[in-house]
Amino acid sequence: MAGNGACCLKSTPHKIEKITMRKKINSILKKVGFHVEEEPDTLFDVVCGMEFPAANAKHQSVHKGDAYYFCSESCKTHFDSDPEKYAGT
Ligand SMILES: [Zn+2]
Repeated sequence: MAGNGACCLKSTPHKIEKITMRKKINSILKKVGFHVEEEPDTLFDVVCGMEFPAANAKHQSVHKGDAYYFCSESCKTHFDSDPEKYAGT
C-alpha cells in the first residue's frame, strides 16, 4: 500500500478513506458484540488482526450467533479452541 501518489490515481483518496473507516467501524462493532448486518468488502481476522478480502473468506466459525472469518485454517483453529478470548464476549 505504500507509495500511492495521490495525484494520478483514479480512485479518490476520500473513497479509500471511507472504506477504511467503515471497516474500522465494523470491526469495532463486532468487538463490542454487535451483529454487523452489512457485508463488508474486507473482513477482519480477530485472531491475527489481519484484514483480508471477503472473497478469500474460506474459514469461518460461528460463535454465539455471530460469524467470524479467518485468513487461514490455523487462525480458525485458534479461535475454535478459545472463542471467548477472541470474540471478546
Ligand atoms: Zn489470521
